[in-house]
Amino acid sequence: MSIFEKLRSGVLTVSPEETQDVGVKLVKDLPDNCVVALSGDLGAGKTTLTKGIGAGLGIDPDEVISPTFQIYSIYEGERQLVHIDAYRLEGAEGLEALMIEEFLKEPWTVVIEWPERGMCDWMNENLVEITLERIFEGEISISLKS
Ligand code: ADP
Ligand code: MG
Repeated sequence: MSIFEKLRSGVLTVSPEETQDVGVKLVKDLPDNCVVALSGDLGAGKTTLTKGIGAGLGIDPDEVISPTFQIYSIYEGERQLVHIDAYRLEGAEGLEALMIEEFLKEPWTVVIEWPERGMCDWMNENLVEITLERIFEGEISISLKS
C-alpha cells in the first residue's frame, strides 16, 4: 500500500523517527511542484514531518528547523524545499507579500505549517492537505484531510 493510501485512513506514529519516516515516504510519492499543507496544534509534529520531507529530498533533517520567526526557509535538495510557518502571519496578504512564488525553482516542494492563517491562490494547485493530531504522549495520528 502506498503511503498515500495509508494516510487516507490515517497513520499512527509512536516516535519522532516514525513521523519523519512518513515524511520521507510521502515526498517520494509526491510529484514535482506540490504544496503540502500541515494542519495541527502546536507540538502535533508538523516540523518533525517536514524534517522527514527534507530527508526524503536528501537534505539533512537536523538543518530543517522551525522557521517561526523568519516565516520561511529555503533548502536545496533533490527538489528545492520551501518550508513556511505561517503561524505569525495575519491573513493571506501577509504571505502574499513575501512573494515566495518568485523564489521557487523547479522542481520544488513547498511545505506550509498553519495553512489556516492564509494561503496564496497559487498554492491551491497540486495541494496535499494533511492533518496531524497528538493522540497521546508520544503518539501522533497523521492523515490526509478528506
Ligand atoms: P509542530 O511543528 O506541530 O509544533 P514539532 O514537530 O515541532 O511540532 O514538535 C513535536 C514534538 O513532539 C517534538 O519535540 C518531537 O520530538 C515530539 N514527538 C513525540 N512523539 C512524536 C511523534 N510520534 N511524532 C512526531 N513528534 C513526536
Ligand atoms: Mg512547527
